[in-house]
Amino acid sequence: MNIILFGPPAAGKGTQAKRLVAERGMVQLSTGDMLRASIASGSELGQEVKAIMDRGDLVTDAIVVRLIEARLPEADAGGGAIFDGFPRTLAQAEALDAMLAARGSQIDRVIRLKVDDTALIERVATRFAEQGRADDNPDSFKVRLGAYNAQTAPLLPYYEAQGKLVDVDGMGTIEAVASAINAQLDL
Ligand code: ADP
Repeated sequence: MNIILFGPPAAGKGTQAKRLVAERGMVQLSTGDMLRASIASGSELGQEVKAIMDRGDLVTDAIVVRLIEARLPEADAGGGAIFDGFPRTLAQAEALDAMLAARGSQIDRVIRLKVDDTALIERVATRFAEQGRADDNPDSFKVRLGAYNAQTAPLLPYYEAQGKLVDVDGMGTIEAVASAINAQLDL
């Protein structure tokens, strides 16, 4: 089973993805993690994307599509993929559908974590204080929320039309959100 964890920045996608990896043997494919690894490695790609990410903007579709494509074989080998932070634009969603179709595979479910903006802003303020991630500063976070609303939220009708979209309340405890996601996966 391949799923997309969908939702605004800091909705808890990464936390839930890591749990699903541990509990279900799925493979987490997080473009944010891949991009941060490129930055940490000092690669040319990392140098190219760092300023874009720090200010909260999206990197180009071509870059993230390439990163994801390189990792799809791992998902075939594991218990399915959890796409986390990808796709974020309609072009990425269409590229993903095409790449999966070429492998005889597909997205089975899109799990949307619903968290209101006030809670997101509070979570990120705490994370910025604790971890100091550059793009968690209040100005960058505003840009990230703006990018979500303008470029990513429009994917919801795309997946709804495919009958794949399910909503999960992302405002509860980590455990409550986890059991709501599990209930959707076990349907
Ligand atoms: P969050 O979900 O908390 O916003 P991520 O780690 O998913 O954080 O993403 C951090 C940043 O990495 C984004 O703000 C963006 O600059 C870049 N990024 C990650 N995934 C994508 C993507 N699919 N398309 C474009 N940019 C991306």
